[in-house]
Amino acid sequence: TRLLRSEEGKEPPKTPGGDTIFGKIIRKEIKADVVYEDDLCLAFRDVSPQAPTHILMIPKNPVDRLANLTPQHKDIMGHLMVKASEVAKKENLDGGYRLVINDGKDGCQSVYHLHIHIIGGRKLSWPPG
Ligand code: 5GP
Repeated sequence: TRLLRSEEGKEPPKTPGGDTIFGKIIRKEIKADVVYEDDLCLAFRDVSPQAPTHILMIPKNPVDRLANLTPQHKDIMGHLMVKASEVAKKENLDGGYRLVINDGKDGCQSVYHLHIHIIGGRKLSWPPG
């Protein structure tokens, strides 16, 4: 989509929590296939799935990237991991799966609202590219 392309290859914003397409999804300004939601987080299917199951888990209170986490993010990051594990269970990823956080340019991050990819439903290869 046009919005997706506009996010690609962007330099990290100077102010964390700058508006991204994920902010629009949280505010329901654009549609997403939501699989889990609570006060703190939202999980929805990736628009361009890289495996039979490909879900993004995001905090509602945005932080732009892994590199900018501080000790105050300990609780939310723990919450995201626990809920990602529950989502994987609900998706029947019993044979295993992978959680991925891409950080920054070299990590191929394209949307600067921190997100955990939940990827599974096929045998994954290692190492990633
Ligand atoms: P990153 O490359 O930043 O780790 O991952 C961003 C992910 O967001 C990509 O896998 C991309 O397909 C997904 N994505 C980008 N825009 C949208 C959107 O509008 N809706 C959904 N559901 N996923 C999106």
